[in-house]
Order: sequence, then C-alpha cells, then structure tokens
Amino acid sequence: MKKDVLDLLLCPSCHNPTLNISDVSYENKNEIRTGEVRCTFCASLFEIRDGILNLLINPGCEIIKEQQGWTILEKAVVNTDELMLALPYAFGDKHEEGWKSQADNFNLIFPIIKIKSSDKVLDIGAGRCWATRFFAKEGCHTVGLDILLTKYVGLLTGDIYIEKENVFFERICSSMEKIPFRDNTFNIIFMSATLHHSSYISIVAREISRMLKPGGSFVLINEPVKGYLDRNKASESPEYKAGINEHLYRLGDYLTSLKEAGLIYKIYPYIGGYALPIRIINKIIIKIFKNKLGKVRVWPPLIYIQLLLFKGVLNLFATKPSGKLNL
Ligand SMILES: [Zn+2]
Repeated sequence: MKKDVLDLLLCPSCHNPTLNISDVSYENKNEIRTGEVRCTFCASLFEIRDGILNLLINPGCEIIKEQQGWTILEKAVVNTDELMLALPYAFGDKHEEGWKSQADNFNLIFPIIKIKSSDKVLDIGAGRCWATRFFAKEGCHTVGLDILLTKYVGLLTGDIYIEKENVFFERICSSMEKIPFRDNTFNIIFMSATLHHSSYISIVAREISRMLKPGGSFVLINEPVKGYLDRNKASESPEYKAGINEHLYRLGDYLTSLKEAGLIYKIYPYIGGYALPIRIINKIIIKIFKNKLGKVRVWPPLIYIQLLLFKGVLNLFATKPSGKLNL
C-alpha cells in the first residue's frame, strides 16, 4: 500500500476521511508492506500486511463462509505462479475449461473500455488481481478490492504480478456492500463474475454509483444470468456446496438495481452458449445484414431474449450521468 491511497478512502467504522499511517514496520521499493493505519477521528486501527490494507470490519457469516469456501476450492486444484501469470488464459484441463468464458469475454470487452492513463480504476471482486493488473499496465491508478486475502485465490496473488510484471496496484480487503472509498472517486469501476456473489445487488449498485465520478463508467462482465426457462439452481454448483455465496439472478434483477442506482446501462454481446432458436434466428439475420453486427455478430434484441428466457452471460457498460442525480 502506498500512502496516497488514503486520499481516496473513508474510515470503514466512522465514515470520515480521517485515515492516517500510524506505523510502518516494513517498506520495500514499491509500497508499505507491514504497518498500521489509524483513524484520527474514531481511533480505529487497521492492519497493513503483505502490502494489503485490511478494512474489512465485522464480517458477517456469509463472508466468513465464502472465505473458507474459496480456500477449500483453491486446495482442490494445483495452482502455480505460472498459471496466475497466464490468466485469464489458464492452461491445464480443469483450469482451462473453468476460465474459458472469463477469458473470451474479457478479451472481447477490455479493448473497448475507454481507458486513460490518468484514470482511477476500482476492480471489485478482484480476487487474484488478474484483471486489476491490466488496468495498472495502462498506467491507471488502480485498486483491487476483495474479501479474500490468500495466495492463488485472493489479493496476496497480486504480489506475483507486481514482482514479475513490473506493475503496481493497490489492494484493499473489504466487502462489496460497504466499500470504504469516498464519493465521486473512480473513472472506471470494473467487475468480472463477482456481483452474483452478493445477496444485496441493489446495495452494491448504489455503492458503485456513489463512488463513480459523474460521467464515469461501470463495466460488468461475465455475470451469470438465469432465464425464465432455465431450471438450473445456484445451490447445485460446486461453489455453493463449498460454502460460497452463489446466486443466479435474472436479467431484470441486475438491470433494475443499476437503474435504481441512477446508472444508464447498455448490454453488450457475450461469447458463450446461445439457445438453438436464438442461433437459428441470428443466422438468418446475419445473412440479411452481413457484417453489420460487430465482432460477435449477435443481433442485439436476441441477446435480451436469450438472457430473459434461457441463460447466459451478462456483459454491460453503465454510465453515471454527469448531471445531478435525484435518488
Ligand atoms: Zn473512524
């Protein structure tokens, strides 16, 4: 953690912008690795360990179960530094299959995010920080936020990128429902396959809207969507069985939360499975319109129908309007 990230933060206990470094036990060329941050208003103390500032206070049982669940899943497979450096293009049987959708959709959406090197970027649910580092490589002041700390699944993994790819980004431990950043702070807030881990997506959407600068963008990718004809249940997934907070939300749940938070959204195509009737109709439309449907070549209304009725992956951009919001 570098000292200047405190200029973006609020104390998670009293919500005042009054955090200060109170102890530096160890510092390397990049950041403060071990130390303590203190709130000068309410005197709460927060630990810096391995460069990560821990602002997660009083985690509920859902968060504790999720932390334990990811540790179980991480130990069920072989993870290496090389694998982390390859992400999102994982290799090896179990990994490759699990990451394919994330990699395809990240590769599709990341190049069209309008990123400036002066941007402040927050990656919510950063986990290993595999995506966080790509924003840092663009020169942005980037922060990865997650509830997980451990290597190969949580924020500590970020050390691999910082050391071997010569980038730097901040890492903050916090839940996504109470995020300790100040209002109007970020130009870009990014989330990949994270929002469905919250039981309160409308609260998360309000937090995102609060922290975005007017005109700032929220980029949501790889979010699973349950259609009205889809009989899959979140409780059948291996993640749920390991104790992870998995939900299968409908398209309307996501869109209503964003709209109520004052964000203006636009859905983008995704790479992944489309139902047979959608594929047939799309084939006909492609023949008529030839190359007018963009890289993924899906007629936009069909994406809505696919996500509403069947299942799929939600990729979207949302903007916080520049004018005053009446929430
Ligand atoms: Zn305080």
